[in-house]
Amino acid sequence: MTDPSTHAHGPEALLARVRHAARQEQFLDIVSAEEAMRRFRAALPPGRLGAELVPLAASLGRVVAETLPARADAPPFDRASVDGFALRAADTAGASEAAPVRLRLNAEVLACGAAPGIEVAPGTATAIATGGMIPRGADAVAMIEWTELEDAADGPMIQLSRALAPGQFIGFAGSDIARGEALLRAGAQITSREIGMLAAAGWSEVPVVRRPIVAVISTGDELHPPGTPLPPGGITDSNAAILCAAVGENGGEPLAMGIFLDDPEALAAALRDALARADMVVMSGGTSKGAGDVSHRILSALPAPGVLVHGVALKPGKPLCLAVAGSKPVVVLPGFPTSAVFTFHEFAVPVLRAMAGLPPRQETEVEADLAVRTPSELGRTEYVMVSLAEGEGTPRAFPLGKGSGSVTAFAQADGFFAIPALDQAAEAGSTVRVRLIGGAARAPDLVIIGSHCVGLDAVLDALAEQGIRARTLAVGSLGGLAAAKRGECDLAPAHLLDPATGSYNAPFLAPGLVLKPGWRRSQGVVFRAGDARFEGIDGRGAIRRAAPDPGCLLVNRNAGSGTRILLDGLLAGMRPAGYANQPKSHNAVAAAVAQSRADWGVAIGTVARDYGLGFLPLADEHYDFFVPETRMRRPAVVAFLDALRSLPVRSRLTLLGFEVGA
Ligand code: AMP
Ligand code: MG
Repeated sequence: MTDPSTHAHGPEALLARVRHAARQEQFLDIVSAEEAMRRFRAALPPGRLGAELVPLAASLGRVVAETLPARADAPPFDRASVDGFALRAADTAGASEAAPVRLRLNAEVLACGAAPGIEVAPGTATAIATGGMIPRGADAVAMIEWTELEDAADGPMIQLSRALAPGQFIGFAGSDIARGEALLRAGAQITSREIGMLAAAGWSEVPVVRRPIVAVISTGDELHPPGTPLPPGGITDSNAAILCAAVGENGGEPLAMGIFLDDPEALAAALRDALARADMVVMSGGTSKGAGDVSHRILSALPAPGVLVHGVALKPGKPLCLAVAGSKPVVVLPGFPTSAVFTFHEFAVPVLRAMAGLPPRQETEVEADLAVRTPSELGRTEYVMVSLAEGEGTPRAFPLGKGSGSVTAFAQADGFFAIPALDQAAEAGSTVRVRLIGGAARAPDLVIIGSHCVGLDAVLDALAEQGIRARTLAVGSLGGLAAAKRGECDLAPAHLLDPATGSYNAPFLAPGLVLKPGWRRSQGVVFRAGDARFEGIDGRGAIRRAAPDPGCLLVNRNAGSGTRILLDGLLAGMRPAGYANQPKSHNAVAAAVAQSRADWGVAIGTVARDYGLGFLPLADEHYDFFVPETRMRRPAVVAFLDALRSLPVRSRLTLLGFEVGA
């Protein structure tokens, strides 16, 4: 780090560092997304990169650099398009079944690849195969089926029972494409079809646009390559992988530079290296205002025009930084994975595609009804990732609600919509325009909205093998039930306890819904094995003991989840320390306890086992499926219910620790 205080210790040094950071890291004036893109484009040379020659076999996916004429005629000569006899059409005038014409056979057979030696004179014909070269003198080909062979005394003859038109059954040279005609125009992207055409037209090497080399740099002291064990506080570098792949998808050639510490010297060296080797540089991380964030600072040393934008009024992606070094674009993306990939697609991809000679990406927009109210910060355009559920008319858009730190949101979302800067929310039921990610998304065969359970994956895996694609939205049991009542999903998995009757799910059945039994799972108190406060007592006893202890931290669950209803019932009004910590999944509860961020919580036994936690059973809850009657006959629903009852799925569920009914 450059500032002198960095390596000093103690509160003074820390304060100095914070002040230094605050001074350095004011965003330049924040601009709109449109203005950011305008400045970026204006500073870049227009047009695509230069051309290079690649072998035809290596040209797949490349962009043609200049209009390519056909180098040869296709077909290269007049040829027969049927098996039969080459002849003069004029000789066949008036021929019929009753009065066939007789033609003398020439003494050659024109197989494919044979050069004709004998001219077809009036009154003669030459045997020819499909694809054979039409001999001089002939202007039509008679199908062999229309002829009879005759062994005459003075040599073989044919009798032909049909009259032919000139040109009949001949494919003429250049009729497919003529030499010199434009085969492919500059800017065309080469697929297997174009490769076939190029081969036929004589191109063994193809001039294509040079693929922009895009250096990808990850920055952050906490980052580690995928697959390596993480120390406490460590984060897997997922940005480099997704960015490199997205570079490839958009016509670039990724150059993975690796992970660099938040250290200005090292980073500046990496940037110099990247600029020397690549046509474009993409860095992620270190661009926000945090004390460790340095990557945007080193950009001040870039050659002109340098930094053009630092700070864009959008979410996710506010700390985005756009620069140009000489003629090379440099983009510093926010570190949060969803922000990084979103801003990459919005700001870097258009520039990359232009350099690669590719047309702007096809954008597809669909209208959808927003399923839930979505608040938004005033003053910034907010992009909300959504999953689409096909209903009766207009599809409904469900915000993923995962935030910009999510590594899965971009892959799971069908698209996104924008909440304008001056709006404070998008209201439930309002119409939103959803821009689809990855082109036109195929609608899933099965929409499952409700509570998630690892057991569900066992069923969905079996369906996937049959080619049935399911979309699952984990919104909790109550949310799923509401969606099922509105007919928005095929299945709503739930584990809802009715405190009055003590039974699960059935008391919540509503008109128009069917309840299909799933499996049972054991819910209980989870704690770190060996914690004396929990060892040796039962679940209810553990809650009675832990709840009033201010030093014993609970990790709760989100309102609307079946687990929360169970726990609230058992707490009977008590509010243990940690009650406000309300993550949305069993795994989050288990992780909090395993990592000592909390001491206890309620989760299912299978998850407790995965995390090596102690487990005190509380209740066997039923995980069942609400199905709208109108959807019961849908093939995917039938397949789901069949899979649920199938032996392989049942044994897998048992193996996972669930109890399946008879
Ligand atoms: P930053 O932009 O450096 O302030 O980082 C914001 C957040 O994104 C932090 O939680 C980082 O750990 C995370 N992050 C930064 N770079 C990456 C990366 N390459 N892969 C995954 N997460 C990252
Ligand atoms: Mg960072």
